[in-house]
Amino acid sequence: MDVYVNKTKCTGCAHCHDVCPVAVFTMEDRDGPQANADTAPEEMKWKGQTQPDILAKWKDVQDAHKHFANKYEGGSGGLSVAVSGSACILCQACLIECEGECIHILDDQGNKYDSIYK
Ligand code: SF4
Ligand code: SF4
Repeated sequence: MDVYVNKTKCTGCAHCHDVCPVAVFTMEDRDGPQANADTAPEEMKWKGQTQPDILAKWKDVQDAHKHFANKYEGGSGGLSVAVSGSACILCQACLIECEGECIHILDDQGNKYDSIYK
């Protein structure tokens, strides 16, 4: 199983981190050395810019999450990094909780699963 996060769309809500039963995700500082420590392809790596449509949609939402904060603190903020994708049991919990619709999973048969926020 391979799991990765499109960092250009991650709001830092930490829903994935909170719901994953096998701790696939960690929350990392946006400007820290681990921000791109998963298998996301080049165009999905964090390079300091969030996609404008995602930024516009979430930047002013008041729901107790720190959207687009640099650091993870107080339950949200930072960027999600799928550091333990091989542990994924494909429960799909993260796929429906991801605000940025930016989690992608490839199973061992090559099937792809993309997050759709519910
Ligand atoms: S689908 Fe995988 S990565 Fe997502 S919450 Fe379930 S076990 Fe964790
Ligand atoms: S649920 Fe999606 S948007 Fe929220 S921190 Fe995880 S990857 Fe980022």
